[in-house]
Amino acid sequence: MTTTTQKQAKHSNGYSAFDFGDFGDLDDYKFRHPLIGREVSGKVFLKEVLNLTGMQVSFGRLRPGAAVPFLHTHKQNEELYIFISGRGQMLVNGDVIEVSEGSAVRIEPSATRTWRNTGDTELVTIVIQAKEGSLIQDTLDDGEPVTKPPVWPV
Ligand code: ZN
Repeated sequence: MTTTTQKQAKHSNGYSAFDFGDFGDLDDYKFRHPLIGREVSGKVFLKEVLNLTGMQVSFGRLRPGAAVPFLHTHKQNEELYIFISGRGQMLVNGDVIEVSEGSAVRIEPSATRTWRNTGDTELVTIVIQAKEGSLIQDTLDDGEPVTKPPVWPV
């Protein structure tokens, strides 16, 4: 079994790195879910492991036929659901959105949301949440070139 407490993240030289393992092994991760009231598996949060400060990110999987058994909203964070594999549906404010590999769904904080696996393989997601309206600059406005070329150790 792999848990984030059994391996150590590397925090060094301006970065944090951790190998969370194959998405197919996400059931190895367990946490007590406050909305379900018991321990659940198949989802792992990256923020604490990687010391993220501006976003929360999770990897998650649902087995075929499985559905998240509750609706939720957020207080101030928008969420981006990125579907890596499988086939499913999101239910957002009563609208059904078909999703599969490559689908991306942005949800504003107050919208009710849930999702389910409607395919016959695992539905794998990456969910990113960040404070709505907090992104001031991005991509080429935020990235800055470094004048020296990359040097890979041999
Ligand atoms: Zn959420």
